[in-house]
Amino acid sequence: MKKAKKQKLFVMKFGGSSVADAEKIKRVARRVHDKQSRGIKVVVVVSAPGDMTDDLLEMADGVSKNPPERELDMLLATGEQVSIALLSMAIQDLGSDAVSLTGPQAGIYADHAHTKARITKIAPSKIHDELKKGKVVIVAGFQGLNPNQDITTLGRGGSDLTAVALAAALKADACEIYTDVKGVFTTDPRVEPEASKVDRISYDEMLELAGAGSQVMQARSIEVAKKYGVDIHVRSTFSEDEGTWIVREVEGMEDVVVSGVAFDKNQAKLSAVEIPDRPGIAAKIFGALADIHVNVDMIIQSAAQDGMNDISFTVARADLKKAVPVVDQVSRELGGQGALVDEKIAKVAVVGVGMKSHAGVAARMFRALAGQNINIEMISTSEIKVSCVVKESDCQKAVQVLHKTFGLSRKPK
Ligand code: ASP
Ligand code: MG
Repeated sequence: MKKAKKQKLFVMKFGGSSVADAEKIKRVARRVHDKQSRGIKVVVVVSAPGDMTDDLLEMADGVSKNPPERELDMLLATGEQVSIALLSMAIQDLGSDAVSLTGPQAGIYADHAHTKARITKIAPSKIHDELKKGKVVIVAGFQGLNPNQDITTLGRGGSDLTAVALAAALKADACEIYTDVKGVFTTDPRVEPEASKVDRISYDEMLELAGAGSQVMQARSIEVAKKYGVDIHVRSTFSEDEGTWIVREVEGMEDVVVSGVAFDKNQAKLSAVEIPDRPGIAAKIFGALADIHVNVDMIIQSAAQDGMNDISFTVARADLKKAVPVVDQVSRELGGQGALVDEKIAKVAVVGVGMKSHAGVAARMFRALAGQNINIEMISTSEIKVSCVVKESDCQKAVQVLHKTFGLSRKPK
C-alpha cells in the first residue's frame, strides 16, 4: 500500500498593519484560505489591529498614573483577541473551517515578568486536536498564561515570538512572517531611499540588527529561531514575491563585511555621576535595574579621578519612568549627584558576519562619521557589530553615510 504523504504544516504570522481594517482582514483570510486549499495545515498567529496596542496603552494612562502591570497585560491582551475573532469569521466566510484561540487556550505558558514575559512551555494538544478536525487554527500572538493563571504579554512585538515558538513546538515546515514591507532591508528605506532587500541573512546578523533598532522582527523571536533552527521567511502580505529568509548560514556570508545599518531612536542615556570608584558599585546600580526588569544596553565608565567615577548607559526610553528613580536613589545613597538623563540620542550600528574576518570596520565607521562632523558619545562592539550613540538630530545623516561607506547602496542598473 502506498504510504500517505505527510501533510505539510505552516505557521503564518500577520502583523498589526496586515489586519488593520476589514478589507485587510479579508485579504489575509484569502491568503490563509488559499494555503489551506493547497492541502497544507495552517496555524495563524496575529497581532492586534493597527495601532490598537498603543491606543490601549494610552487608555491606561488616561485612568492611572502608574497602571499595575497585571492589569496592563489584561488590557493589552484584548487587542490580539479582536484580530483572532475577526479573522476566524472572515476565513469561515470563505468556506474554510477555522477556530480562534487565546494564548492560554493554545497552551502557551509564560513566566511572571508582566509586560515582557518569556515563554516557558508550549503544550499544543488543543492546536493538534483542532488541526486534526481540518480547521485553520488562529492563535492570539503576544500572550501567555503565567504560573498564577494570569494572562501576561511577551514584550512589544511579541507576536513574532509566539509565531516562532509555535513553529518550533509544532515542528512546522515553515514560519512565514507577513508584514507591510517586502522583507529585511539593508537599512530603513524611509531614511535611505537607496536601501535594498536582502535575500538571505543569518540569525546572528538579524539578532544584532534587531537589537540595534531594526523593527522588522522582535529580537527575542530570532533568539528562539536560532536555538531551535526555525527557518523564517519574512515577506509582504500584499504580494506573492519572495521576501527574506532568516537562516543559520548564508553562502559566502563572510565575504560581505557589513550586511545592514540599523538605528534606534527609542533609547535614552542615563548617567550616575561622581560615584565612588570601588568594587561593587556597578553591581549595585545594575542589580537594582535588573530587579525592576530594565534592560541596559551600552555602558561606559569614565576613568576614575580622585576616587570618583561617572557611569553612563542606555536604556529604552519606555523604561525611563521606572529606571530614573532607581538610579537616582542608588546614586544618592552612594554620595553621588543623582541621575542625569539625555533623551535626545540615537544609536546607530553596522552589522555583518564578515567583520569576524575583516579588520578595520570600526575605524572606517568612525572616519565616515567624523567626515560628516558627527560626534560619537558612546561606542560598543561585538564580534559582528559596531554601535555608536550620536545626537538624535545626527541620526539620519549617520545612517546615510554608513550605508554608502559600506557599499550597501543599490547598484545602478
Ligand atoms: N500588538 C503587540 C505590539 O504592538 C504585539 C505585536 O504586534 O507583535 O507590540
Ligand atoms: Mg505590532
